[in-house]
Amino acid sequence: MFKKTSTKWILAIASAMLLSGGVFAQNKPNVVILATGGTIAGAGADVTNSASYQSAKVPVDKLIIGLPELAKVANVRGEQVFQVGSESLRNDNLLTLGKRISALVKQDDVDGIVITHGTDTTEETAYFLNLVIKTEKPIVVVASMRPGTAMSADGPLNLYSAITVAGSKDARGKGTFVVLNDEIHSGRDVSKMINVRPNAFASPWGALGMVVEGKNYWFRKLDKRHTTNSEFDIDKIDTLPLVEIAYAGGNVNDTAYRAFANAGAKAIIHAGPGNGSVAATLVPVLQELRGKGLQIIRSSHVNAGGFVLRNGEQPDDKYDWIVAHDLNPQKARILATVALTATNDSKELQRIFMEY
Ligand code: GLU
Repeated sequence: MFKKTSTKWILAIASAMLLSGGVFAQNKPNVVILATGGTIAGAGADVTNSASYQSAKVPVDKLIIGLPELAKVANVRGEQVFQVGSESLRNDNLLTLGKRISALVKQDDVDGIVITHGTDTTEETAYFLNLVIKTEKPIVVVASMRPGTAMSADGPLNLYSAITVAGSKDARGKGTFVVLNDEIHSGRDVSKMINVRPNAFASPWGALGMVVEGKNYWFRKLDKRHTTNSEFDIDKIDTLPLVEIAYAGGNVNDTAYRAFANAGAKAIIHAGPGNGSVAATLVPVLQELRGKGLQIIRSSHVNAGGFVLRNGEQPDDKYDWIVAHDLNPQKARILATVALTATNDSKELQRIFMEY
């Protein structure tokens, strides 16, 4: 009788442990999800609404409860930091998010961080965190292209993959990541290439690796400075300066450049065509603004990734301008914003643009 009862209890306890995520629950990594909104927290009226829906609707606790598989691979808890579409995120939001991450990664009981985010500015937040967070612990920004209510929603698998990457030891020390569509991208390189399709993200120099069924497969390393090797530290940054982007195609005028200068911008990212080219009529305007103290940073809006060469299209040494090299305009804005907290010396800024 006694034997029968104890066997029953052992079986009951074992199945409870399995259901709650496995026998070795105490060995699972601790991952914190910081939720900011986006399509991954979006909801549509119908399962056919893959493109028309409301982003930033579902709270993080609901996302976690809705995906019991997460508990099998990590001890997961969530914090709702914001609930917005990422196009509305501002510099203050980056500071709030970065400081919260910095505090969390200092805790021994936190092994990794996942940030749920809208896809529109995922590439900016991920790059910002790559520059300013002092940790080897994995920081993973995750997003989705379809809301959870749609057919073939991509959010649940993306979130599951992000949690497994954030909890893995082999992801440590590699900088921040963006995980979507089974790919692990560097937060520095990745960019949104199209605004429909689940494979919307790509890195001009290729993904760092793949994550398949919770296992990471690595292919390359980021050579640029990041996280622990970065000279920037979120704990020492309390305000971010204004940096604006002026888009230049054909028939370009000086209106935006002058308005940005009048509004107090410390730098203007010239998002030019090709090699960050500058129209002949704009050259004296940019020289004049540089003379007034603004930093002029030439970048390229070429779709697949620009590559602006110093003194290539323009004599940057002569004009004391800076080139963004391979950073697209929105990433150049992030780096300039962070770098200007440390220096306003154009040579130093150029060094930073080559090293990060
Ligand atoms: N515009 C929204 C955002 O970036 C939704 C887009 C998305 O997450 O895919 O948050």
